[in-house]
This record gives sequence, C-alpha cells and structure tokens, in this order.
Amino acid sequence: MKNINPNCFVCNQPQSEVPLIQFQYKDIEYHVCPEHLPIMIHSPQKLTGLLPDAEKLKPHNQ
Ligand SMILES: [Zn+2]
Repeated sequence: MKNINPNCFVCNQPQSEVPLIQFQYKDIEYHVCPEHLPIMIHSPQKLTGLLPDAEKLKPHNQ
C-alpha cells in the first residue's frame, strides 16, 4: 500500500504550495510540510488517527 498523493498528511497542502518532506512508516510513504514536521517530533500523540499507532510514538525530550 502506497500513498500516492504528494500532500502533507496533516493539512493536505500539495508540494506545489509548500516544501514537502517524504518519510516512510509501516511500509507506507507519507509527506509532511515544515509546519507539521515539528508536531511529529514534539507531539506525535496529536497525530492519532492520522498515523497508525501515533499514540505509541515517543515525543522528543524537550
Ligand atoms: Zn502540513
């Protein structure tokens, strides 16, 4: 299964509007914009429902 949409997985902005960073997680390819990358680092639990098992990800120590 592959995410073929090059949009931020949080806000759905396309790469034509914002720079997108590509990453892979559980064999799926995702894209995230610079606005939402810090959320993934510092508050991954906020992504529950968007990323599988997001509630199990550990936030980076502040
Ligand atoms: Zn975004």
